[in-house]
Amino acid sequence: MNPIGTFGASRYTTRDLQLFRDADDPVVAAALAPCTLIRVAAGHRVEDGLRARLYIVLSGALEVAPDAHSGSEDGGAGLVTTRVLPGESVGEQAVLDDAVNLAAMTALEDCELLVIEAELVWQLIDRSNVLARNLLRLLSFRIRAANAQLKRRQRLGEFYRQLSLNDGLTGLYNRAWLNEMLPKLAMRARQDGSPLSIVMIDLDHFKRFNDTHGHMAGDAALSSAAGVIRESLRPSDFAVRYGGEELMALLPDTPTAQAEMVAERLAERLRTTMVFPDMRLPLPHITGSFGVASLAPGGDEHALMAAADAALYRAKQAGRDRVSV
Ligand code: GH3
Ligand code: MG
Ligand code: MG
Repeated sequence: MNPIGTFGASRYTTRDLQLFRDADDPVVAAALAPCTLIRVAAGHRVEDGLRARLYIVLSGALEVAPDAHSGSEDGGAGLVTTRVLPGESVGEQAVLDDAVNLAAMTALEDCELLVIEAELVWQLIDRSNVLARNLLRLLSFRIRAANAQLKRRQRLGEFYRQLSLNDGLTGLYNRAWLNEMLPKLAMRARQDGSPLSIVMIDLDHFKRFNDTHGHMAGDAALSSAAGVIRESLRPSDFAVRYGGEELMALLPDTPTAQAEMVAERLAERLRTTMVFPDMRLPLPHITGSFGVASLAPGGDEHALMAAADAALYRAKQAGRDRVSV
């Protein structure tokens, strides 16, 4: 604190203070007259002596870092610092909460600040409707800004969540999604008494495909296989990549016989899809082996996965490029 005089003796008037705008009241001016003016040199912090106070910037600019005790789930990351310019104030919230001002305030340039102790702010609020209204307007603006920021953060969080549940190569849902969703789908099926089927798919001789065409072509083949699966399903079905070249279709409301037909259709489309158009090579096609299973009455998602896995194994054993139930 470096006091340099009082408000009454300075060249400033209440008109210079946003909060007191339109509060052209001699009583308010008289009450503010003895308030201290301080000077803070550029780069220095405002040492507020840990009291609830209102500061109004008269000249220069302050930078206010986010309050260390608010929105602290992420340690304040993502909260922006704010710049307080001449006429603007900082510390209203501390005054209203009768709490210490925890936000760190630093002078961006040499500043002159008006300091108003909390007690006086309350007296002025009692005396001046205009001040009370200005304060409300200011707080409402701050709440709106905070809400907007919260929404932005939620959207960002949702974006990252989506990213974490989708597979980067194929765009299908990934194993994390499967682990989260399959139990829910199984529970819903049990509650509704509706059938739930899954089709487990493992691409055939995919190691050989990689060895023949290269790993990049393998990736392209995997992508196009995923595309075939996704585009062959109903909107209410789900396509998942749950392992390297292991894909899955989740079919809610689908009994086994119908799921088997879906799997046959997938197998047919896969074997007739040219996975990438390279005219120099014999047309590369891929096939898959398909294991179909349905949720048994009283069974859970683990039993369902095990049954599909066993069916897939039988499809491989029987010669690949086929469906087993
Ligand atoms: P099988 O018919 O018995 O399934 O033979 P396979 O060669 O497909 O079986 P295996 O599980 O032994 O090998 C799977 C291969 O899939 C191994 C790996 O090189 C390949 N693979 C797994 N993930 C990827 C991937 O993301 N990209 C590429 N290009 N290849 C992958
Ligand atoms: Mg495999
Ligand atoms: Mg395979």
